[in-house]
Amino acid sequence: MAHTIEYPCPNCNSELNFDSESQNLRCLHCNTQIPIASGAEVIEEHQISEYFQASHCPVNELQSITYRCSKCGKDNISTQDIAFFECRYCGNNVINTEAYRTKPVVPASMVPFEISKEEALNAFQAWIGKGFWNDSDLKKMALNDAMQGYYVPFWTFDSQTESKWSGDSGRYYYVDVTYTDSQGKSQVRQERRTDWTYRSGHFSHFFDDVLISASKEFNQEIIREIYPFHLNSLKPYHQEYLLGWSAKAYDEDMTRSYSLFRQYIDGRIEQACEELLREDTFRNLSVETEYCKETFKHMLLPVWHCQYLFKGKPYFYIVNGQTGKIYGKKPLSVTKITIAVIIAIILIVLLILAVS
Ligand SMILES: [Zn+2]
Ligand SMILES: [Zn+2]
Repeated sequence: MAHTIEYPCPNCNSELNFDSESQNLRCLHCNTQIPIASGAEVIEEHQISEYFQASHCPVNELQSITYRCSKCGKDNISTQDIAFFECRYCGNNVINTEAYRTKPVVPASMVPFEISKEEALNAFQAWIGKGFWNDSDLKKMALNDAMQGYYVPFWTFDSQTESKWSGDSGRYYYVDVTYTDSQGKSQVRQERRTDWTYRSGHFSHFFDDVLISASKEFNQEIIREIYPFHLNSLKPYHQEYLLGWSAKAYDEDMTRSYSLFRQYIDGRIEQACEELLREDTFRNLSVETEYCKETFKHMLLPVWHCQYLFKGKPYFYIVNGQTGKIYGKKPLSVTKITIAVIIAIILIVLLILAVS
């Protein structure tokens, strides 16, 4: 494969990895550390209109590629869009410099991993240990190798929005209504009425850095559970940060992600206009929005991911590689549920005996 770079340790020729704790490249073998030269490059935002006006070459089918490891001489097979490889035979670290260029947009910035594997596992143990229903066996399972750090590709979008809204605002009031009850007597009850008033106005809002996942593996509904990412720590993209971490080019393209972004901000604008219109209630809300200064960035963000089987069923969790925030689905402990059910039955029986 033509476009690969290897990063051997200058001291012992072993592999260098990007180390989340020191933020340097570190040799796992002799502990040599090398800082990553990051200049004061400016992270640019691109106009969305320019992206859609430009003609993009059709994206070819991804091809499998073979690279020959310079250390052990053996051939490895991968696909074009995988940015970081580890030689299957000797563990040599290799960067595929062309991976991101298989797509029209290359990442310009990234947040390097700040949470180490150990910290992510601690976060998992604290989370799974919380509550009564989790099986203690799980704690042992977290220590396996199923956990992997991914640089997940993301789009972020900005948009200045100007919205004209109008509708009917409703205020409740109550009137006394006289009626005849079943005994033929005259009674008075209160009934609610609504007083409608037409209203209109303007809502202006700047949406800044709205994140949309550019990876099918990490879909929007799941990944937003570990937000926020603090984008003030964004660094210009450097391939050295990928050493030792899984990294792959995006597979959710701009057009689809941009429409998800529009759906998201339209929902937020509608909510805000509802709040402006509503007194006690509202109806016939109509909102017309103009979008300007729309820009986007493409970036990589760090996520730990673990998929595992527990008593034959698959579960997963993800950890924000910058903040340690965790999300996943927890298995329930059958033993603990059974014990709880037995205790509940005993309590009910005791209660019945005490009453009778
Ligand atoms: Zn070394
Ligand atoms: Zn090798």
